[in-house]
Amino acid sequence: MSELRVRFAPSPTGYLHVGGARTALFNWLLARKQGGTFILRIEDTDVERSTKESVDAILEGMKWLGLDWDEGPFYQSDSFPLYKEYVRKLLDAGKAYKCYCTSEELDAKRNLAMQEGRKPKYDGTCRERADQPEGQPYVVRFRAPQGGVTAFDDLIKGTITFPNEELDDLIIQRTDGTPTYNFCVVIDDATMRITTVIRGDDHVNNTPRQIQLYEALGFPVPQFAHVPMILGADKARLSKRHGATSVISYRDMGYLPEALLNYLVRLGWSHGDDEIFSSEEMIQKFDIGNVGRSASVFNTEKLNWLNAHYIKTGDPARLAGLLLPHLSAHEVTTLNGPDLMAVVKTLQERAQTLEEMAERAVFYYNAPVSYDEAALAKFDKELLLAVFAAVTEKLASAPLGDVAGIDALFKEVCTENSWKMGQVGQPVRIALSGGTQAPGIGEIVVTLGVDETIRRIQKAREHAAGK
Ligand code: GLU
Repeated sequence: MSELRVRFAPSPTGYLHVGGARTALFNWLLARKQGGTFILRIEDTDVERSTKESVDAILEGMKWLGLDWDEGPFYQSDSFPLYKEYVRKLLDAGKAYKCYCTSEELDAKRNLAMQEGRKPKYDGTCRERADQPEGQPYVVRFRAPQGGVTAFDDLIKGTITFPNEELDDLIIQRTDGTPTYNFCVVIDDATMRITTVIRGDDHVNNTPRQIQLYEALGFPVPQFAHVPMILGADKARLSKRHGATSVISYRDMGYLPEALLNYLVRLGWSHGDDEIFSSEEMIQKFDIGNVGRSASVFNTEKLNWLNAHYIKTGDPARLAGLLLPHLSAHEVTTLNGPDLMAVVKTLQERAQTLEEMAERAVFYYNAPVSYDEAALAKFDKELLLAVFAAVTEKLASAPLGDVAGIDALFKEVCTENSWKMGQVGQPVRIALSGGTQAPGIGEIVVTLGVDETIRRIQKAREHAAGK
């Protein structure tokens, strides 16, 4: 194991967002590439907004994507005594102080600063205060350095510098004794010995405050890599408004985890012109330094393209298993129908999602109850009846062969009756599936079996005769 220790630190206030999943993926890739340790930490200090359902949804999303962690999940809510201990250390060292200013006083000062065109910032009233008024509520503030700058070399964004005068004395403990967000993050990252913090770039502004805390506590400062946001097509931050953003909803829509991972890794990261990456290839080729500095736009078409690729090249037995819940949603049971794996093989070439595959598989199990009348109307009634009769006769007398054998049989029907393939194949496809969007005729017949094929053609023949 290398020294590298990274973490994914979601706040459980909602499901696992695709942006969060990409951050988790980048952490995971770096850990796997360098033989480091990937830690999962649930940042649930915001008790009001954190829920058990969100924790479960996040863990479910991580597991579905195969982003396995080596340590955790750790919960910040279990560490309150630890945070308190470090608040005490800072107070004892004079690096933090108790602030008794009331919120009314602070509001008044803030309003005055704004009126006078100054940046609202804590004015340091309690910084040098000697007395400790008995029984009065207080917050604990960090005594932040006042001059100079705080800078760091971000692995993605380069050097970022903040003048210290812009950072006021951060509250690290509230009046009710609870620690605040930035403080908990630092204590956790330091005590978990995190070496590289990879997170969304909405945390860039927290970083100088966190660095000052590391330094005050005498902890080594980790490296930082801030990943740019994911945007919608309108260049606004990706949100529900743009469509699905939850990882699990992509599973439910019929995406494969490897397709979503492949899509996410390419969102902001590139390796030459390569587009297709297995997990092993991602691990081998990933380099946090190659993540782009600008935000990326989520593109569903590209995700669909990747998903289609993984469906096309996927193992039919695995796909069959993954397809089952989608089929159930279409009220299909596969018990009394063709072998699902055989069905999958006929649909793999064309489906973009498992949901689409399920829609196209329904006819194999549920015989059509109606037909695409517009498509049927393109053929004369006499032709339909003759085609259905000839095909039935041919199928009944020939042994069921493979796809090539069945295709040859249809060719014979055409030659013997001087019909074109379109005049035979299309009506039969409608008879078997109800519509015209279906796999090749030979594939359908072999998968359905001759008996069921003849039954369906018979039904369609009665339907045509009644016209
Ligand atoms: N809990 C934070 C979030 O969900 C992440 C904090 C961090 O990675 O430092 O945005």
